[in-house]
Amino acid sequence: MIKILHMYADMLDLYGDSGNMEILRYRCKMRGIDCEVDTYSIDAEMPDFTSYDLIYIGGGADLEQQHISADLMKCREGIKKAYDEGVFLLLICGGYQLMGKYYRDADGNDIPGLGLFDYYTVAPQSRRKRCIGNIVIQTEKTGIPVKVVGFENHGGQTSGVKTPFGKVLYGNGNCSKSENEGYCDDNVIATYLHGPLLAKNPEISDDIIHYCIQRAIYKSGSDEAYELPPLDDTLENECRRVMLERLLK
Ligand code: GLN
Repeated sequence: MIKILHMYADMLDLYGDSGNMEILRYRCKMRGIDCEVDTYSIDAEMPDFTSYDLIYIGGGADLEQQHISADLMKCREGIKKAYDEGVFLLLICGGYQLMGKYYRDADGNDIPGLGLFDYYTVAPQSRRKRCIGNIVIQTEKTGIPVKVVGFENHGGQTSGVKTPFGKVLYGNGNCSKSENEGYCDDNVIATYLHGPLLAKNPEISDDIIHYCIQRAIYKSGSDEAYELPPLDDTLENECRRVMLERLLK
């Protein structure tokens, strides 16, 4: 059983970010694994963040980020405790930015981040200077090099990342034309990749599912190494092959 908390699904859902939750549900279902997705949004009852295996936040425009900011701050201690206990955080774009120190939006307003991580993000004042388009990165998050495809659209330029999610092979990444994309550690993937990320990159989905199940096994006192049964990803891999061929040729 995997328990997921999807935060601000009604406000932060650019480019089908909620599809990431559909994919986790689907890939669990195909293996007979129960997967429950709860939602949380502004002013709802404070959940027990530590009771989840995964906390998910999608991306949004500056305005939505401002709207949720005060409420997200109220959740800070709960999210931090969950993260410290090993709950996995999957954060896309606007969600990624708000876990850092702050996001300075295109109007120069500072939206405070939760400060879980050291990075910070500043958007250029010209709204034309955005990083928009397809992106390919290479990550070693799963233990082997994987090419990950997605779509980015952000004004924010993120600095101060020590452990990026991947190296940029095509597109922009953390800043305009930067070498690195996103942030990651053992139980975090924070990235500018919409896509939705997990639909386009099954290895990343499975790495997260595996992490959640393995953590639950360890928590139950067993040291058994869990192997996730493989799925037939022919279609997903073919879609990605076409994109890689188009972008990296
Ligand atoms: N509003 C933020 C920016 O422009 C985040 C955008 C997003 O989530 N796609 O940088």
